[in-house]
Amino acid sequence: MIMIGVEQQINIIKSKLLPGVELIAISKTKPIGLIKEAYGCGQRLFGENRVQELKQKYEELPKDIEWHFIGHLQSKQVKQIASFVSLIHSVDSLKLYSIINREAVKHNRVIDVLIQVKIAKEETKSGLSRDECFELLESISGGEFPGVRVVGVMGMSTKGLSDAETREEFINLSNIKQEIQENYFKNCNSFKEISMGMSGDYEIAMEVGSTMVRIGSTIFGQRK
Ligand SMILES: *Cc1c(COP(=O)(O)O)cnc(C)c1O
Repeated sequence: MIMIGVEQQINIIKSKLLPGVELIAISKTKPIGLIKEAYGCGQRLFGENRVQELKQKYEELPKDIEWHFIGHLQSKQVKQIASFVSLIHSVDSLKLYSIINREAVKHNRVIDVLIQVKIAKEETKSGLSRDECFELLESISGGEFPGVRVVGVMGMSTKGLSDAETREEFINLSNIKQEIQENYFKNCNSFKEISMGMSGDYEIAMEVGSTMVRIGSTIFGQRK
């Protein structure tokens, strides 16, 4: 099998991105060397899903990389990444939101976050239902959280669906985002992101409003 390199894959994906869509290169489990290759061809947004791994890569790699956290985040781990993380895609509780706020304030910064919405039918996919999102936003909107800014939503589709079914799930997320915007962020230009689409479904996701695609294996190869 002929291996296509990281740089070539990134260029192919970039040529397919619709206007306004950002590529988050998901480098979890992958070595520093491959991330440097991606960096070398201009990629600056990377995503990781383990706190220790993220911290280590942050320390070793150039400081103009914007690091996104994409997996389940435990409240007690927030402090390890609070000084540098640029976007947390996976806020799914008031507790986590409050702790991110507390840690951000300690570092004198505002951390951007997305609310993770459960759009897949699988039990394993984390995130909040539509109603739970509204409950969370209701509690947040009353409180004082100067260290966090909600800039959008994130979701993952169910594996193994047809393209039409995947599209339905993504449309559902777009609709929930719209509804949240109208109710809580009406005149707020910064609430605009929809993080949806991975290696297998990012083209569908972009067609229905994704602004951030999270692509790992297509760029860096299959993970073990
Ligand atoms: C691993 C992961 C991705 C990337 O998946 P690929 O199929 O390798 O592109 C995207 N989003 C999340 C939340 C992930 O955990």
